Amino acid sequence: MKVLVPVKRVVDYNVKVRVKSDGTGVDIANVKMSMNPFDEIAVEEAVRLKEAGIASEVIVVSAGVAGCQETLRTAMAIGADRGILIESDADLQPLAVAKLIKAVADKEQPQVVIFGKQAIDDDSNQTGQMFAALQGWPQATFASKVVIADGKATVTREVDGGLETLEMALPAVVTTDLRLNEPRYATLPNIMKAKKKPLETVKPEDLGVDVAPRLKTLKVAEPAKRQAGVKVADVADLVSKLKNEAKVI
Ligand code: AMP
Repeated sequence: MKVLVPVKRVVDYNVKVRVKSDGTGVDIANVKMSMNPFDEIAVEEAVRLKEAGIASEVIVVSAGVAGCQETLRTAMAIGADRGILIESDADLQPLAVAKLIKAVADKEQPQVVIFGKQAIDDDSNQTGQMFAALQGWPQATFASKVVIADGKATVTREVDGGLETLEMALPAVVTTDLRLNEPRYATLPNIMKAKKKPLETVKPEDLGVDVAPRLKTLKVAEPAKRQAGVKVADVADLVSKLKNEAKVI
């Protein structure tokens, strides 16, 4: 059973991004880029399936600029077997990515595709769902536990106020939540080994996918600055301010 894991190269989660002065987006020139954290969890889960003898091969795929090779190598250092780079300098929106991954899945025929639940740069939370719809496959999003056996996936999902467990027939789509697992650190020997693993590069045109954007960003703005706090003299003062100024009680 092959497992396919789409991994996105995003601004590292430790970087505080700055909005461009003209409000057209955020400035990502010279900032550290890393694998989307939810995708690291997805790679870890796929590698665990392989280590448990359930998956036979873990393939990672990334769509974007040439630098995504680095992201694919990181995934291979965690334990993925090979990588596919869909190279494009275009602004790839979720629908375009879903179509590109579909083209790869049609060729590779994975039984499970594990996406991150969302990319921390655009926060879209759309690609896995769109891919499942394009394939007509069942999907379990926000997974905190995945068990695969007898041609079925049993997935526990984090929902408001509790957990929900679903069963679905393979092939299927899973998207990862934060508590699914704790990804391992790539060790130096594994980083070295990853350099020799196969990495294929294709272009959207080779896959016959039109990646033209469907969405237009009108404006990006910084969140409003927080007002400075005030010290209250006593409880009576606090209650009075909550009542008369904040008007919350
Ligand atoms: P999003 O819908 O943008 O929040 O992304 C959800 C998930 O889709 C990510 O966690 C990745 O698993 C996958 N994904 C999104 N964009 C890409 C991309 N350019 N290349 C590979 N995978 C992607």
